[in-house]
Amino acid sequence: MTRTFACFLLSISSIVLSQEARLVCPEISFLSMEDGANKIAGGEYDEFFAKLHLREAAAMTGVAPGEKTLQESRVFTRDFFRSAVLDFTEVERAALQVHLDRVIDQFGDIYPLLVHRPWRFLKSRKDLCGGFSFTRDDCIVLSEPTLSNFVKTMRTESMETKNGESLLLHEQMHVLQRARPELFKPLYEDVFHFMSGTVTVHPWIDERQVTNPDGMSDNWVAVTPGENGHTKWHWIGSVLLSDKTMHTMGRDFVGVAVPLQSVDAGYQMVVGSDGKPKFKLLNELSEFTSRLPIRVGWDHPNEVAAYLFTVITHARRDTKLNGRAADVMERAKEWFEKNLKPNSELDEDQRRITTDH
Ligand SMILES: [Zn+2]
Repeated sequence: MTRTFACFLLSISSIVLSQEARLVCPEISFLSMEDGANKIAGGEYDEFFAKLHLREAAAMTGVAPGEKTLQESRVFTRDFFRSAVLDFTEVERAALQVHLDRVIDQFGDIYPLLVHRPWRFLKSRKDLCGGFSFTRDDCIVLSEPTLSNFVKTMRTESMETKNGESLLLHEQMHVLQRARPELFKPLYEDVFHFMSGTVTVHPWIDERQVTNPDGMSDNWVAVTPGENGHTKWHWIGSVLLSDKTMHTMGRDFVGVAVPLQSVDAGYQMVVGSDGKPKFKLLNELSEFTSRLPIRVGWDHPNEVAAYLFTVITHARRDTKLNGRAADVMERAKEWFEKNLKPNSELDEDQRRITTDH
């Protein structure tokens, strides 16, 4: 979930593929209210609604839980999501098309696997998830205020126009991550230093965690060097820490790092003498965050990849990077250029994308 509410050398074969890709315009579609409601609250999202707890459900709907049980709150939240889908206006469709044409023109040849996927959009009311942008299945959810910004900037070439392009690329990255999780594993492990593993989330964290629809898996472990050649493991994520009834999306999110210990079945959170998991603020795990050349989005590898990609595409490097962060930036850039274009391994997927519509 975003808070934006959100030259490579060509081989002969890649020239051919690139030209083919350019000939095929990606499919762009706008879901109707009915189709959007089924998409946003359909059966395939049972897992998302089943994970929700009272705090995050209240933040996502803006409605205090009152006397609702956890189960009643989950049902209410699903109904709220379903009822918060709207139809696009003609001008909103036109504005998205204008921004997408610019994205396709600038990045279609470099990252065709991402840019030439179908672009599917769903419009939400401004009070759903605080108006944040996110994705469901193959669909990008944009709120009324976000669409207003696209309309405002459709005839200009400003920083805001670039912000709109970045948002589209960020969200489409989440669509690709969901479709091809195995593609991203080497990036997360070798470049970002996450490790996949089964993490048992402690109930105290579970009740406070903010479930990210674009990074649902808890099974990523942040790996950092410890003392005497040992390795340290942390679960990282966003939580709603205070005990107040209502939290605000974004503003009340707190990134935390919880130390993990290895157990037979994977990893479990280290608990203090008070029975609660020990944790520190995520920005205090500087040995991890200082390696990543982004200022937000550290809390899940899907977000690290999506934010870092738009830093690369829109040259958003406004601070001097330290040596390790500069190395991660360079390696990530190479990874995106190599893996988001057709090659022998990806030909089949690319063909399917360009012939599906
Ligand atoms: Zn995101």
